Amino acid sequence: MEILEKRIQQDGLVKKGNVLKVDNFLNHQMDIQLFNEMGKEFKRLFADKPINKILTIESSGIGIACVVAQYFDVPVVFAKKTQSINLDGEVYSSKIESFTHKRVYDVIVSRKYLGPEDHILIIDDFLANGCAVNGLIEIIEHAGATIEGIGIAIEKGQQIGGKLLREKGYQVESLAIIDAMDDETGEITFRH
Ligand code: 5GP
Repeated sequence: MEILEKRIQQDGLVKKGNVLKVDNFLNHQMDIQLFNEMGKEFKRLFADKPINKILTIESSGIGIACVVAQYFDVPVVFAKKTQSINLDGEVYSSKIESFTHKRVYDVIVSRKYLGPEDHILIIDDFLANGCAVNGLIEIIEHAGATIEGIGIAIEKGQQIGGKLLREKGYQVESLAIIDAMDDETGEITFRH
């Protein structure tokens, strides 16, 4: 998606450790016009899917998911990160290792908001090694719901997550796929 690639080129900062900072339009300040364009594009890409719910993970996925949801006219459920997990049978849970914070979280979704009748579109801001998305997949599988697709704003194509998910047969649509980025020159190249 050209406008997203342009915005990444303009405002993205390449940090050490293979991290792209996009705080000025996605992860801190949010550009809702841009999110709207992303929502339209996801609707086009998943137009033939019977999606009735969007699942994301707190916190960065929520803003995008809410704007995208308006194009599908469906609710958003977000997986909550928690440290003191109370496994009382009321929730589905999974463990996710955070790429940016280098720690493991338990994430939970209430059984009230996910079940076998649901057809889910997963939305997240970044795809790197795929831990976050795989945690969400595990939760959806526990619930017996159907995964209709995975929509990502920025995929770091130099990491393995996207490749593995596509090999498993999921429809993964990333609006910008980074091929390489250099923390010394700040150069970012995209895959098309
Ligand atoms: P994964 O679980 O696929 O390894 O990483 C994806 C998650 O880590 C996303 O939910 C995102 O919040 C975070 N993340 C991974 N890489 C980056 C990055 O380069 N920049 C930012 N801002 N977040 C990232």
